[in-house]
Amino acid sequence: MPSKNRYKVVILGSGPAGLTAALYASRANLEPLVVEGGGGDDPTDVPGGQLMLTTDVDNYPGFPEGILGPELMAKMRKQAERFGTEFVFGALAEAGLHERPFSLKLADGALQADVLIVASGARAKWLGLPDEIDFRTRIGGVSACATCDGFFYKGKDVMVVGGGDTAMEEATFLTKFASKVTVVHRRDTLRASKIMQDKARANAKIAWLLDSALEGYLGKEEGKLRGVRVRNLKSGAATEAAVGGVFMAIGHEPNTGAFKGQVEMNDSGYLLTRDGTTATSVPGVFAAGDVQDQRYRQAVTAAGSGCMAAIDAERFLSH
Ligand code: NDP
Repeated sequence: MPSKNRYKVVILGSGPAGLTAALYASRANLEPLVVEGGGGDDPTDVPGGQLMLTTDVDNYPGFPEGILGPELMAKMRKQAERFGTEFVFGALAEAGLHERPFSLKLADGALQADVLIVASGARAKWLGLPDEIDFRTRIGGVSACATCDGFFYKGKDVMVVGGGDTAMEEATFLTKFASKVTVVHRRDTLRASKIMQDKARANAKIAWLLDSALEGYLGKEEGKLRGVRVRNLKSGAATEAAVGGVFMAIGHEPNTGAFKGQVEMNDSGYLLTRDGTTATSVPGVFAAGDVQDQRYRQAVTAAGSGCMAAIDAERFLSH
């Protein structure tokens, strides 16, 4: 439970954006509360955000030897705590943003906020096939981040699901490790931009299974992914393919459900910010990190926008 019922600043999310916002807000004596997430149905929905699901992070500046994702998040959290940030576990259930102070309902209580910083991130979309969660977490072999996990698939045959730019980028990246990468896409034309398609098509290690859908994962009994079942959507025929890894690249969705109808978003649900700031359509609500960024989605860009949100919040409160 939060220790107070009204806060100057409440930050939703405890990934790099939320924790950087907390660091800046707490150093500005705004005594922020971070609602750190977790507690949902999905076992990978944990405080700390998507970096909790990665291993080595080699592209966060300041760590020349690299750092583990969870370790980076633990350090960011400790730094925000050092200046008095308060944390509460769980997710936002409901938000009332029509008047200030804003009212926020959490799983186990309600509170008010003068300013809200939304840094609730985005999550990869999954197919929702049987045993998918087991393969993603306990067994391994199914991932939504080639940059994070590609390294573990040296010399293996892998599959990438999706036909967009992410699928092309991930497939191309995976050819550095895997012996063969098969792209499975549900239509016969790709959605990806021409330049990314051309690059992938020119790569001899990439094979294509078009008009096809992944239907099931094989190997649960052995405790190891050994293949998948794929259906050709034109002929209806199902086949099995031996692969050691499957990478999902069917898009992301932002965690903005609680703000529908209250804060302006684009068609995909990403919050819209204004004039190069973190201000949203609601005065006093600021957005940082992946929840407002469909393009870059990096830890360092998320942290940067978290800093911006805290500065925007401080200026808003001092007017
Ligand atoms: P997109 O939404 O562009 O593509 C998702 C792909 O997954 C589509 O091909 C879609 O099929 C397929 N798909 C969606 N749901 C399912 C499903 N249930 N089963 C099977 N297939 C499914 O997402 P991306 O992540 O690729 O890209 C998001 C944005 O980021 C885009 O604007 C993209 O341009 C941008 N981006 C840019 C990059 C760059 O410029 N370097 C790199 C990566 C992303 P269908 O086509 O049939 O709808």
